[in-house]
Amino acid sequence: MFETLSDRLSGVFDKLRGRGSLSEADVSEAMREVRVALLEADVALPVAREFIGKVKERAIGQDVLRSVTPGQQVIKIVHDALVDMLGGAEADHALDLNVAPPAAILMVGLQGSGKTTSTAKIALRLQKKEKKKVLMASLDTRRPAAQEQLKVLGEQAEVKTLPIIAGQQPVDIAKRAMEAARLGGYDVVMLDTAGRLSIDEQLMAEVADVHRIANPAETLLVVDSLTGQDAVQTAEKFKARVPVSGVVMTRIDGDGRGGAALSMRAVTGAPIKLIGIGEKLDALDEFDPRRMAGRILG
Ligand code: GDP
Repeated sequence: MFETLSDRLSGVFDKLRGRGSLSEADVSEAMREVRVALLEADVALPVAREFIGKVKERAIGQDVLRSVTPGQQVIKIVHDALVDMLGGAEADHALDLNVAPPAAILMVGLQGSGKTTSTAKIALRLQKKEKKKVLMASLDTRRPAAQEQLKVLGEQAEVKTLPIIAGQQPVDIAKRAMEAARLGGYDVVMLDTAGRLSIDEQLMAEVADVHRIANPAETLLVVDSLTGQDAVQTAEKFKARVPVSGVVMTRIDGDGRGGAALSMRAVTGAPIKLIGIGEKLDALDEFDPRRMAGRILG
């Protein structure tokens, strides 16, 4: 177990208490602690640097050490800066499906990130909570079991899936899904693209083609929060090929520190919209920057 960021900060600043105004050297020392803690929490280095710059500015501007609890004050400054960087307390993290139906949601991400499960979770949520008529289609023609997997999840969630036609290519499946949705009066079509073990040019080109054809209202990148820095690199690569409009972070129920969330926003420029908090189909939650900031602080 490592010390939490909160503990570190209280330690450093409480030692400095009673010394009058805070010198720049004092702040720098404390910020070194913040940096180490952020890196331990899987925040990417450039993101950590930018963040520390912001906190330093705010901490120097305030007479932190005159307070009875300087540590607590700095923790609040750090907390607020985390919330800002995660999208702000008032940010709207809802899916934006405000287009002429059917609205397509394109799901992209690495294999094993939780993409197919998240597809079914989102479909279930839209159908149950927002009373949308949802159709799901798997475009994963590489893994023989992938299309079957979505079908099974569809049966569990009672969400319709596009019938599987063996041998059909992803772009053609996407076209068929959009057409079926139009004819069937669906509000939303969820397209689950092929997972990949690493970024592979052919699969990236395929995602870009599907994106062009489906013209999705949302392109959601699914990342496993437990993979830390790898999640950040994945995000950078997807971002270069498709306009990611939102991020779904899975396995928030695991014991990761959530640092990848901080990087994700900085790297993709897109908000984290939803989080996966378990294996069950209802284990999906809206992203809350305040809760995530609390988790990173520990
Ligand atoms: P895909 O290859 O990206 O489509 O990944 P899957 O959707 O098949 O998920 C891989 C595994 O991760 C499955 O066993 C899921 O049940 C599990 N999983 C997905 N999301 C979450 C989550 O938020 N929390 C936990 N604990 N497990 C998850």
